[in-house]
Amino acid sequence: MRKKPRERQPESPRRAIPAVEKVLQALGDAGLSRPVVVAVVRRELARRRKGGAVPVFETVVEGIRNALETLRRSALRPVINATGVVIHTNLGRAPLGPAAIEALTAIGANYSNLEIDLASGERGGRAAYVEQLLAVLCGAEAATVVNNCAAALVLMLRHFTSGARSEVILSRGELVQIGGGFRIPDVLETSGATLREVGTTNQTTLADYADAIGEKTALILKVHRSNFFMDGFVDSPSIEALADLARRKRLPLVEDLGSGAVLNTAIYGVDREPTASEVLRCGVGLVCFSGDKLLGGPQAGVIAGKARWVAALKREPFFRALRCDKLILGALEATAEAYVRAPRVGRGSSLPAAPAGLGGQIPVLGMLEATEESLRARAQALRTELSGLPLTITVGEGRGRVGGGTLPRAALPSVTLDLSPQTVAPTQFLARLRAGSPPLIGYLSGGRVRLDLRTVSAGQDGLLAEAIRVAVRGIAPDRIEPSRRPA
Ligand SMILES: *Cc1c(COP(=O)(O)O)cnc(C)c1O
Repeated sequence: MRKKPRERQPESPRRAIPAVEKVLQALGDAGLSRPVVVAVVRRELARRRKGGAVPVFETVVEGIRNALETLRRSALRPVINATGVVIHTNLGRAPLGPAAIEALTAIGANYSNLEIDLASGERGGRAAYVEQLLAVLCGAEAATVVNNCAAALVLMLRHFTSGARSEVILSRGELVQIGGGFRIPDVLETSGATLREVGTTNQTTLADYADAIGEKTALILKVHRSNFFMDGFVDSPSIEALADLARRKRLPLVEDLGSGAVLNTAIYGVDREPTASEVLRCGVGLVCFSGDKLLGGPQAGVIAGKARWVAALKREPFFRALRCDKLILGALEATAEAYVRAPRVGRGSSLPAAPAGLGGQIPVLGMLEATEESLRARAQALRTELSGLPLTITVGEGRGRVGGGTLPRAALPSVTLDLSPQTVAPTQFLARLRAGSPPLIGYLSGGRVRLDLRTVSAGQDGLLAEAIRVAVRGIAPDRIEPSRRPA
């Protein structure tokens, strides 16, 4: 028979591990479902069992409480993005527009014609309509879509590199790392391709490409330098010249555009990103780009270009593993449709035609479009609304960014609400805002908490004000005006 364990016996820590039931009782309501709480408690106690001396019961419970709180906060939920970074990868990149949301709801809640031809009642092709829309948007013969741009790249590399032809020619100036540790050379390796680097970091000539072409060459790859720029003694052949070389050598020329602008970004006062249609018109055979960067749709990887290559990619068995879910297809279709249907303005001017009124339908474009005057008016209204709190609030100038590894040079002139809390350190106040419901994500600069309004939709101003009030209540409940006290 086992002896009853004694409390807190340092020389035999195993005995001091508390029982699951006792910990559960001490925890009370953790705001999570019981099976999840039990699993976390078991895991944490097992960890204690392995790791040396066991602290006192209260400390064990406190550690578990913290683990549960971290877990509870990791559940996916909306946040208010007041960072000024429009396509914020850590905050879910592009928020979707109303038509995309409507599509998600309708397609998600019902059966759909995903793979049925409604005319014949026979099995039909998946994604035919969204593929047509994307082809039109990209000025391409054909287009298709997979889960993300990285997947699109891997699919294309796997398809074109087979057997003896395994080499992919890429300029050393384009061996880039995109966010999240996504490195082009690693992607090539994953795809079974062999990297054939040409040129130097800053200079690659057409002859460098031509000299590298041999029996093993599978394709020529271009990777758009989306998240950094090079200036100075920098040169590379024009796309047209490279396309001509590829055509003569009967090799595919593929470009990873990454950011996926389908309209002229210069209309937003930032650098001009190459659009899919421009690049294809220059002779590139296939392009790929993300659906949730500048396009402003759901996470997806669009592939557009020559019809026979797009068809061949779709026949790859691997395509099946990368195909998009009906929700993504629905949201992407609605997003692409908004672009295609928008009336075009600016034709005949020095700028190419740009769709008008898209800001209301594609939130990413709406944020790029917002004028400083409109942001300032909102900031001033918020400042007035929040006066009387134990905070010094000023309206400041911000520098928004496009983000998502796009347009690294673009600084979007913006307007911030700058908060100097009187009773707590700015870092703590920033954390309080993050702990709110919804969490409000700002940043610190110059010893103040700054909230950039460019990435906050006007419809969220009320929520933002309330989030600030709640955060203030947490730090100084006695200093809030009686009129603003919650009922
Ligand atoms: C962002 C980016 C990718 C990755 O796109 P995902 O859709 O996130 O997979 C690939 N290439 C370039 C050049 C990019 O900028």
